[in-house]
Amino acid sequence: MTNTHGIGNHIREVDPEIERILEREWERQQYKINLIASENYASPAVREAQGCIMTNKYAEGYPHRRYYGGCEWVDEAEELAIERAKKLFGAEHVNVQPHSGSQANMAVYFAVLKPGDTILSMDLSHGGHLSHGSPISFSGKLYNVVSYGVSRDTERIDYAEVEALAREHRPQMIVCGASSYPREIDFKAFAEIAEDVGAYLLADIAHIAGMVAVGLHNSPIPHADFVSTTTHKTLRGPRGGMVMCREEYAKLLDKALFPGIQGGPLMHVIAAKAVALKEALSPEFAEYQRRILDNAKRLAQGLIQGGFDLVSGGTDNHLMLVDLNSIGITGKEAEERLSEVGIILNKNTIPFETRKPFIASGIRLGTPAITTRGFGTAEMDQIAEWVEHVLRGKPSKEEKLSILEGVREMCARYPIW
Ligand code: PLP
Repeated sequence: MTNTHGIGNHIREVDPEIERILEREWERQQYKINLIASENYASPAVREAQGCIMTNKYAEGYPHRRYYGGCEWVDEAEELAIERAKKLFGAEHVNVQPHSGSQANMAVYFAVLKPGDTILSMDLSHGGHLSHGSPISFSGKLYNVVSYGVSRDTERIDYAEVEALAREHRPQMIVCGASSYPREIDFKAFAEIAEDVGAYLLADIAHIAGMVAVGLHNSPIPHADFVSTTTHKTLRGPRGGMVMCREEYAKLLDKALFPGIQGGPLMHVIAAKAVALKEALSPEFAEYQRRILDNAKRLAQGLIQGGFDLVSGGTDNHLMLVDLNSIGITGKEAEERLSEVGIILNKNTIPFETRKPFIASGIRLGTPAITTRGFGTAEMDQIAEWVEHVLRGKPSKEEKLSILEGVREMCARYPIW
């Protein structure tokens, strides 16, 4: 028997050391406020599927075209995942096999680019992702990368700059989508620029997939050649990736993923992706996405009232970036101070960053996880007040302990499991 957090008699018997670690992690997730914008709490059904017997199965290939026998049931699971993703996003072709978001992007690059080709993508410190061409990632090593960013004035994507760079460098691919960009992305504008210079367009919706799925963010599906995503952020599924594309690229994409860069798919994870996609098709999921946005707006408002500078002055989505320069502390210090009182988030570089990424001048806050556990606007106001007190004030040891206790009580009122 497993308990509500997935720790059962078997782990207890076989590996008490891991059991103890899992218990501690359960406690951490249950009693701390998780503002990490890329995390969420997958449902018990998703976790059950992810821990299931399909982990035992090899299934290289695609449904009904496998290199192994005994694939009749995994075929059904994969087909269900694909059908549900197509319905949810309105996509022509879907590949649910990428082990991660980075591998989803790698599969897209390998499908249509050759090493040395030019990619035009968002600079990491302006909000892009490592796999969009950072020099320390495979993507930056294999391709010639040209970066666009946000404008100094508005701290929003400067589409005129993107267009000028595209005309100057004639990239084979333009990548849009981000890890820490708090504003809506205009996929149509990107598509027009890509078409103008004859580039493929990849939209990476890892962060905003849940909102795109329910129509609360414009969808890149009608505009982009390829759309990649992770399945574990706002989509609230198991850790993994997925790529959608036009039918004309289906074969190229599938071949690039398997046998190009991966071997056997993780069939237990694909079963869990199917469950999550079913959940995402429900009316409750659309309501959940709406609440993520309401909470983000409210939290941003609270932080602004508390005297913080928000990059671009606010948020249109599930996350916000605080520029800490005006209060004279680094992202690293802020992350550590908040962690002491049970508020977990990550330091983040900000546009035109002057510090190293490990120190950074900002923090990123997101509402997907806390919204899953049921926090609403009253909790957002309280969290903003705590963040202000911890980062702008000089709380005594007793005050910090009292916030830690308040965080625990708030979490106890909205248990995850
Ligand atoms: N793309 C974007 C925009 C992301 O934010 C992330 C992860 O944070 C990824 C891709 C990569 O996902 P993974 O960590 O699963 O490789």
